[in-house]
Amino acid sequence: MTSDNFRVEPAKFFRELQSRLKVLQRRASRKNKRSKNWEKAQLKVARLHHQISNTRKNFHFQTSHLLCDRADMIFAEDINFKMTARGFLGKEMLDGGFGQFRDLLSWVCWKRGKYFAQVDHKYTSQICPECGTHTGKKELTERVHVCDECGYSTSRDHASGRVILQRGLNSVVPMDCRERKLSGNGVLSGVLCLDKCRSRNANSRELEAYVCTPKESA
Ligand SMILES: [Zn+2]
Repeated sequence: MTSDNFRVEPAKFFRELQSRLKVLQRRASRKNKRSKNWEKAQLKVARLHHQISNTRKNFHFQTSHLLCDRADMIFAEDINFKMTARGFLGKEMLDGGFGQFRDLLSWVCWKRGKYFAQVDHKYTSQICPECGTHTGKKELTERVHVCDECGYSTSRDHASGRVILQRGLNSVVPMDCRERKLSGNGVLSGVLCLDKCRSRNANSRELEAYVCTPKESA
């Protein structure tokens, strides 16, 4: 999800591959250890692991290029993934592969001459992008941002995307020439990867309805 309300849908084939992996792993565990069939099963599991990681990398590459097509500057949250993985988000966060994605994205940006920077991730989902008031902590299930102060409402990810964009711009562009630069910008929120996990259950179409008008990107 970006600040101009551009959403990258998580690829569906990951789920299919993952469930296939589960089946193979279960099968492999039933074989007698070190037997011929066990070896074959292990090989199948290993191959699928390889396929999954390749597919994911490919998807991240395509998404990076897609984002570079849309923007000249890209900001991402500086979430520390090792920390998060140990914390409450656990394995889901790692599965999303946001860390790898961010690395790839920064490389693609460099390759294509786009600006890439990371910004402080703290409280990005707790601040109203319109008026800057703290709206308090949101639960992960809370997918909509509604501001009591100014009445601004949009999807949670769009809101934090805009906060990230503002922070990113503050870090690179002096106040007076900011207006000029705003048009060509996109922001990547770390929430993207959360969405990969969450929107499996949640109906992401429903979220789109809360969203305000998408900006046409340059
Ligand atoms: Zn507000």
